Amino acid sequence: MKLITVGTVAFDRIETPFGKADKVVGGAATYISLAASFFTDGLGLVSVIGEDFPEDMLEMMRERGIDLNGLEVLPGRESFFWAGRYHYDMNTRDTLETRLNVLSDLDPRLPEPYAQATYLMLGNLDPVVQAKVLEQMKERPALVVMDTMNFWMDSALDKLKEVIASVDILAINDAEARQLSGEHSLVRAADKILTMGPKYLVVKKGEHGALLFGQGRVFFAPALPLEDIVDPTGAGDTFAGGFVGYLAHTQDHSFENLKRAIIVGSALASFCCERFGVQRLLEIGREDIDQRIQQFVDLVDFDIQLVGS
Ligand code: AMP
Repeated sequence: MKLITVGTVAFDRIETPFGKADKVVGGAATYISLAASFFTDGLGLVSVIGEDFPEDMLEMMRERGIDLNGLEVLPGRESFFWAGRYHYDMNTRDTLETRLNVLSDLDPRLPEPYAQATYLMLGNLDPVVQAKVLEQMKERPALVVMDTMNFWMDSALDKLKEVIASVDILAINDAEARQLSGEHSLVRAADKILTMGPKYLVVKKGEHGALLFGQGRVFFAPALPLEDIVDPTGAGDTFAGGFVGYLAHTQDHSFENLKRAIIVGSALASFCCERFGVQRLLEIGREDIDQRIQQFVDLVDFDIQLVGS
């Protein structure tokens, strides 16, 4: 097994100023795994769902090479449910409802091949669960990437810091980086967070792109300006899935390659926003992704003659 992901597999209800979807498949691990599946095989998913989860979606994931032996199905129970409403700028949202349902019983037991995976993606979840997955790995994976959110900073900061101390890359949004560090400047926030353990910090800024900090260096990737943003839900997870999937495929963890992985993640995230839920990720192929990556290259390509030179 090459890359395993732990996170939610869920139903979402989404409202934006321009439309809504009552019940679509979502969840951090769903987005991450689907995005990663464009770049690498040997994918495994660790999560829990209820009996209500659609079999055709599971089949679609299997067809994309995602092993589901780590996905527990609890009979007679309902899957995790989240409802959110986006503000006009679509960069901020309110959580309207969170029904944990089966998630309160998630006690991951890794199947044998999962415990030997070389890449591990800890999706946004209770840090106790993230730690349980990390502890069950037979050997320290070559790379551990982690996401989290303000909820865990408010309710389980000590445990969260323990997990953060043992990962290689933390990928969070700008508000979360500020909260975790207590610093408004993202440069200062990165300095502080990098003393907590991770070698690299990725700061996701929604439609304002993403920053990579580490090794005393900074890299910025823009987000692609889209004509219509239908639904940004899962864009951060899709970014993380493309990012870690590309790294698992290339097995190169240099700063230069992390920069490429950031662009790949950004390209995948831009697709995610074009439809509700995971729909767009199920429509696209490698050719679409390659074209979009080229759009990123063109977007920031410029030539300049410095006055002094
Ligand atoms: P993102 O837009 O990338 O932050 O991720 C959105 C996804 O996270 C949705 O599909 C939700 O099902 C899932 N989600 C929402 N709240 C939580 C939570 N408290 N813990 C874990 N996953 C969540």
